[in-house]
Amino acid sequence: MNSPKDILRQYWGYGEFRPLQEDIIQSVLDGHDTLALLPTGGGKSICFQVPAMCMDGICIVVSPLIALMHDQVQRLREKNIPAIAITSTMSKRETDIAFDNCVYGKIKFLYLSPERLQSELARVRISKMNVSFIAVDEAHCISQWGYDFRPPYTQIAEIRELHPKVPVLALTATATKQVADDICSKLEFKNEKRFTQSFARHNIAYVVRKTEDKNSQLFRLAERVQAPGIVYVRNRRKTQEIALLLQSSGIPATFYHAGLTAQDRRKRQEEWLSNRCRVMVATNAFGMGIDKPDVRFVVHMDLPDSPEAYFQEAGRAGRDGAESGAILFWNEADINQLEVNLRQSFPELKDIRRCWQAVSNYFQIPVGSGEGVTRIFDLKKISTTYNLDPVLLFHSMKIIEREGYVALADAINQPSRVHVRVSNQELYNYEVKNQADETLLKAMLRMYGGLFESYVRISEADLARKSGKSPDVVAADLKRFDQLGLISYEPRTDQPLMTLLQPRPDAYSLYISPANLAERRKAAETRVEAMKNFVRDETQCRQITLLKFFGETEMKECGKCDVCKKKAGDAKKKEKLNLEEEILAVLRNEQKTVNELVAMFPLELNADVNTALRKLLDREVVGFDKLRKLRIL
Ligand code: ADP
Repeated sequence: MNSPKDILRQYWGYGEFRPLQEDIIQSVLDGHDTLALLPTGGGKSICFQVPAMCMDGICIVVSPLIALMHDQVQRLREKNIPAIAITSTMSKRETDIAFDNCVYGKIKFLYLSPERLQSELARVRISKMNVSFIAVDEAHCISQWGYDFRPPYTQIAEIRELHPKVPVLALTATATKQVADDICSKLEFKNEKRFTQSFARHNIAYVVRKTEDKNSQLFRLAERVQAPGIVYVRNRRKTQEIALLLQSSGIPATFYHAGLTAQDRRKRQEEWLSNRCRVMVATNAFGMGIDKPDVRFVVHMDLPDSPEAYFQEAGRAGRDGAESGAILFWNEADINQLEVNLRQSFPELKDIRRCWQAVSNYFQIPVGSGEGVTRIFDLKKISTTYNLDPVLLFHSMKIIEREGYVALADAINQPSRVHVRVSNQELYNYEVKNQADETLLKAMLRMYGGLFESYVRISEADLARKSGKSPDVVAADLKRFDQLGLISYEPRTDQPLMTLLQPRPDAYSLYISPANLAERRKAAETRVEAMKNFVRDETQCRQITLLKFFGETEMKECGKCDVCKKKAGDAKKKEKLNLEEEILAVLRNEQKTVNELVAMFPLELNADVNTALRKLLDREVVGFDKLRKLRIL
């Protein structure tokens, strides 16, 4: 057996493990059920990918994030490690073949959407696999107390029965003590080990600022910090508005939200990743799986619903360990908005039923059938067709999802796939009889390997180029070959999806447990309270406030957040820090506009600089020239 360190070097090219990675890996290799709490960017994937490469058999990775799964599978394949993802976006045939490959092939990693565990077929196949261990990513999803509870996660314990000796490694970046305990109990941990890395991020300065003029604050910040940043806003429209505003001030910005086409999203993401565009303005749809190390600032223009969400998003700053800022702008209207959101997140039962009826009618799935069926879930279209408030429909579906009736998947981009269903000889016979199709079929076989064994990603555009047809004609031909039974063709998708996890109940037998609902409401209220406390409490170091929420007890003041800085600043003020003198010193050197001048001082002094400047202007010590630049009179 290769040592973990050899594997790390050989496949990843890294010389050393990060703190805790090695301990976590050893614990899995020793057969312990293991809980690993590592902050975002801490390097969780290595913790399951390395031991899996040390062990015989296949590692099953349960993850709720389809886009992330495809990403990781892709990266493993680039290292020549055989990996497969089985998600709710795949047809029954594709799922079947993928499972077969895991049983009989040499696959090292099976990434599995939790809702795919539900079927008998999955259970039978998994029982036949030689499983090394089970990794549960985003393990907080198993807990009702977690901020992202997903009922299909509770099925994971059942696959343990199929492989009682196989250890489980649960990983998460967001768990309070209560959630961590719940994860261990729901996954039926025995002989367990826990590893927790403090969630303190020593290179992030948390700054919370109450302001009625967020836009100009943002502008100043983006101008002062000439480096990549992310700006989070709550709604899609605002992403574009703010990106335009920044652009008009000469700051290269782009925007991103789930309503854009997959192609557009990819393009914008790429622009930002490659630094062609410095600032990304986005909804919370952006960031998961993004691994840009040099993000120097993350700004929140609105209040997130929970400290967990805030911590995850803010944590995208400074993954490379260099000094970075997480800046949150807020005002009283935001607090109101949080409360409105909270109310809207828990619609009344009759409204939830009305929404379910509309969705059922829209998809025309008969009562009592449809288990495992996946459909494109076009929220806008359904809400317009049935005259429903889209916000109500969204939250109703979230509650229905949390009761385990459906699984909703965000828009992800999945390329087209093809699998050849007949033998090489049969395909040849077909080509001989149908000369017109020969070019395309030959081009496909030449361009892609493994088509007879499993589904392979193809590109209609590439095939078009090779066969001299248009992409539309290629797609139509592939569809025709599919109907003839020669191949299976899964055209690409880039839409949000809904999978029915149970036979479709009628609206009146849709059971929403009042106890569950009440419990979740209470948990959501606690989170909103924690957010309010986070922004309002100006006496405690921001980092400490956050860490306390996650149950940490041993903490030092960060010395960097606005509260720590203010304390230090107050001390400095006592030393009569003379801003007026500093301003005059700057202007003696060079004339500057007000914005340029203010931008030269730390953010937390902006208000003081403005006051000092006003006093100098009032006393006519300083004035403006024709170009509106400040000069000493
Ligand atoms: P997480 O899932 O915890 O957010 P990832 O697993 O995506 O984090 O890892 C974050 C980044 O850190 C990735 O680019 C990964 O390759 C890198 N990384 C992880 N472990 C190491 C290591 N031991 N040495 C160097 N880089 C590492």
